[in-house]
Amino acid sequence: MPDRRTFIRKTALAAGSSLLAASVGQKAAAVVPQHEGHLILSTWSFGMKANAKAMEMLQAGSRLLDAVEEGVKVVEADPSMTSVGLSGFPDRDGNVTLDACIMDEEGKAGSVTFLQYIEHPVSVARLVMEKTPHVMLSGKGALRFALDNGFRMKKGLSPQARQAWEEWKKKTGYVPRPSADNHDTIGLIARSAQGKLAGACTTSGVAFKMYGRVGDSPIIGAGLYVDPLVGAATATGVGEYVMRICGAHTIVELMRQGVPPQQACVEALKRIVQRHQSLEGVQVGFLALHRSGSYGAYALRPGFQYALSLGNNHALHDAPAMFAEEKK
Ligand code: ASP
Repeated sequence: MPDRRTFIRKTALAAGSSLLAASVGQKAAAVVPQHEGHLILSTWSFGMKANAKAMEMLQAGSRLLDAVEEGVKVVEADPSMTSVGLSGFPDRDGNVTLDACIMDEEGKAGSVTFLQYIEHPVSVARLVMEKTPHVMLSGKGALRFALDNGFRMKKGLSPQARQAWEEWKKKTGYVPRPSADNHDTIGLIARSAQGKLAGACTTSGVAFKMYGRVGDSPIIGAGLYVDPLVGAATATGVGEYVMRICGAHTIVELMRQGVPPQQACVEALKRIVQRHQSLEGVQVGFLALHRSGSYGAYALRPGFQYALSLGNNHALHDAPAMFAEEKK
């Protein structure tokens, strides 16, 4: 007789397969949404304001990469955010450490990890891409590069974040525990009406993580991937689970083989399910965009929302999910 874990895993896989058949099977494939104007997809409800900024810029004739960067910067600068930018929750020692990456219309990439004191890590990632022979700079090296390029240091740990951290310390005994309710990243992928693709991803990472922890968000191929000839994908959720399967790259490779975007997200999630005995409390959400303008979204659990902008049409959607339970 299967033990409980094996049973849950098998049930989840079976649920995934039947959902797959139901939602992205032959019937659904015939109505894969496709759009020919500017299209922007981003994670969570705060994606709405990122999309609005990016769309406004695209409609005014800006370069796609500029629109993508400025879009996520709106979220990085929002002082009410607790999971992106300097107002994000700190690690378990009280340090706010930021991760971000960006990919341009040619598939070039830049990334910063474990960056402190900088309001716009995504802009530093862009400079890494454009001004250095490297793809990724980390920690003090990334900070020095940012300061050398005119960025100013700014204090993290807002009063709100400090209070949450103090409470967390009292309750949890210093044990880092990524769960569905202590993270959320802005991942934004976009296609211009001319068929170009670009994307950006930026986060303060999982709250109360260990000092030095870096998640999937700044890892090219995990939190974000753009292949100009195929499509783009981005991820949110507990980064460790995304990194183990190179989430965004996996989705783009599946699209390269002809798998529709939503089904590609499902297939990547199935790899996560297959690989882990337990996914209790774990949320992962993926967004995928094919260069043709078709797109998809899928999450492990209900609760993952994404912002979709098609020209002047901006809307927040609930992503379909593999498991039936709520996020927490
Ligand atoms: N993926 C991010 C991380 O693991 C968090 C999130 O997207 O919710 O740092």
